[in-house]
Amino acid sequence: RAVLRELTEMMMKNLDIPDTESLSPPVPSTYQKRYLKKIMDLGEGHFGKVTLYKYDPTNDDTGELVAVKVLKQESGCVAEGLMKEIEILKSLDHINIVKYKGCCTEPGRTEVQLIMEYLPMGSLRDYLPKTKVSVCQCLMYAQQICQGMDYLHSKRYVHRDLAARNVLVENNSLVKIGDFGLTKHIPEGEIYYRVREDGDSPVFWYAIECLKESKFSFASDVWSFGVTLYEILTRCDNRQSPPTVCCLNLHMRQFKYSTPLEFLIWPLYFIPPPQKFYEMMGEAQGQITTMIIIDLLMKNMRLPCPRDCPHEVTLDIMKNQSLLNQHCWQSLKFDPDFPVNRYGC
Ligand code: ADP
Ligand code: MG
Repeated sequence: RAVLRELTEMMMKNLDIPDTESLSPPVPSTYQKRYLKKIMDLGEGHFGKVTLYKYDPTNDDTGELVAVKVLKQESGCVAEGLMKEIEILKSLDHINIVKYKGCCTEPGRTEVQLIMEYLPMGSLRDYLPKTKVSVCQCLMYAQQICQGMDYLHSKRYVHRDLAARNVLVENNSLVKIGDFGLTKHIPEGEIYYRVREDGDSPVFWYAIECLKESKFSFASDVWSFGVTLYEILTRCDNRQSPPTVCCLNLHMRQFKYSTPLEFLIWPLYFIPPPQKFYEMMGEAQGQITTMIIIDLLMKNMRLPCPRDCPHEVTLDIMKNQSLLNQHCWQSLKFDPDFPVNRYGC
């Protein structure tokens, strides 16, 4: 909320803020698979695949456009993950969170489809590199993400995968948070969720305490917000972005790569050793890479200031050294004597 306040103050100096009041609650409907007509693929992430369909029960092309998410692997426990995502999304209603429309299951089949509103401009990761976007607009997107996250946290959910690839663009003045596949509920009275289950994680967006102790809290989402803000301000320029292709299984401490390792080079955190060395390391490379990231973060190394980023943003939001010492990338101890950390989380 404090990040939101600061961003709003910065924006007030520059532009009118659009009305982002919540709209009326969604009316979930039952969808039948046979009326879904495929239009095109929209994108895929580490876990799911999203496709654009027209839902056209009257078969006269007057149907609505919907985005439909299915999982890439259809194993029992993975399908359970999508069911959880559906339950979470169903319970959310905010202008800056993608709207749930319904789900589609077929009798006798395990496949589940999540049906949501279609956002025509895709993710910020796809949109920003090919669109001319001013710093002011960037701050407006950041502000809207904060509003969505503030709402999500008010429902005691931690997103755990906040990144430009998971922020969807409705039009040039409205963005919405999507992908609740890793989202967890933090029960009242508790401050973090400790991840014990297997699964790949986007480590470059994770706070130190997530990497070291698998502890996820509202404050760790604030760290990921800082990385997302960095992505937005660099317009998701590939040369400056974290490697999205790389996911770490925190439990097993193993990396999985879907492209050649040379693409892993993210000069901001570390420069990987030559390919051959990686091959020789085998499975240990995951552990070593995590240790390198943790070590660099512990030495207080952080992402640099994006090129045309206003100084206030870098100083006040990302790396503030003020009295309160609150910024997105501060290290954090879960200490009941110091409850205020990373913007009061
Ligand atoms: P995963 O859980 O595999 O990461 P996501 O839910 O993030 O899957 O979706 C993958 C990609 O599909 C997104 O990065 C985005 O490009 C696209 N996408 C997802 N939802 C929508 C939507 N509602 N409208 C348009 N594109 C979408
Ligand atoms: Mg995703």
